[in-house]
Amino acid sequence: MKKTNSGNCAYPRIAALAKKAARRRLDVVMIGNEANVRALTGVACDNARLVIEPSADGAAPRTTFYTDFRYVPAVKRTAPDLKVVDFSKFACGKWKRIGFESCIPTRDYLDLKGAFPRAKLVDVLKDVHALRAVKTPAEIAAIAAAEALNDEIWARAQEDFKPGMTEKEMQRVIRAWMNALGDGEAFETIVCAGANAAECHHVPDDTVWRDGEPLLVDMGVKLAGVCADMTRCIMPRKPTAEYRKIYELVLQANRAGIAAARPGITGKELDKVARDVIRKAGYGTAFGHALGHGVGYEIHEAPTASRKSDWKLEPGMLVTIEPGVYLPGKLGVRIEDLVLITKDGCEVLSHSAK
Ligand code: ZN
Ligand code: ZN
Repeated sequence: MKKTNSGNCAYPRIAALAKKAARRRLDVVMIGNEANVRALTGVACDNARLVIEPSADGAAPRTTFYTDFRYVPAVKRTAPDLKVVDFSKFACGKWKRIGFESCIPTRDYLDLKGAFPRAKLVDVLKDVHALRAVKTPAEIAAIAAAEALNDEIWARAQEDFKPGMTEKEMQRVIRAWMNALGDGEAFETIVCAGANAAECHHVPDDTVWRDGEPLLVDMGVKLAGVCADMTRCIMPRKPTAEYRKIYELVLQANRAGIAAARPGITGKELDKVARDVIRKAGYGTAFGHALGHGVGYEIHEAPTASRKSDWKLEPGMLVTIEPGVYLPGKLGVRIEDLVLITKDGCEVLSHSAK
């Protein structure tokens, strides 16, 4: 059997992207988004352009990693199998069909159009996202470690929290633990005291957390380049009947989502399973966001689990299950876990009590 070089490519995602590009008759694919570069090459570099020229005969694609003077030595060291070239030596081909990422800044897009006025620009972002959505074993281990650290930080933060503290003070407590034990925050920690939890992305302010009030915290530590994500609510010792009812409802929706998360289900089917629990209880309009999202080098990645999502879940994908009910002026509850899709179901990576 004839062996092609593409199978030997040290970078399987680059080989897979090149294969898709060849099918779309692209002469070249250019990747510059930091998270995309990281996912394709393993290299952390915020000023890179990966130039991938697919080969029509199935051989390994010709790949060049362009970066600036500051990064050349580090990139050569971390990716010895890549051809690393200084931007000043950028070599254009006679490219007529160019694959690009539609997430690039408008300035970069206009530059690209200016440099190749006759070329057809084809968006390949979805292809890259599809490759990133299925994590490698190393990425899964890194994200599981970040989520475990997030659990630990949550446990420590709860010991530090005292009624009378403001939301900002509690946010600082979590930040300090994330800086001490991890690589900082993956996103701005959300802390909502009492009725502020009704705003799902409330910005922590000087609101005081009073004794007997519920608290909502949405937090994710960054560790070794990847993100964690989890939301927990602290139930007051004597919750109102309404708070207890809503908490139990959201927990039921969260559990239904986890039970349904498995290979083959689409993002919208998964969203519906959890949403139906809330809708049937009469709170459908109080759950105004998507059920979940992928997590990886970025806090929001593919696949999404929303009412419109056609992503089909596969083993190795990660998705959050985060239903919520928000009653303005009264209360808000969201419970978020991160799950890994396995061969026959899912594994919950968040272990904090709920
Ligand atoms: Zn979150
Ligand atoms: Zn989330």
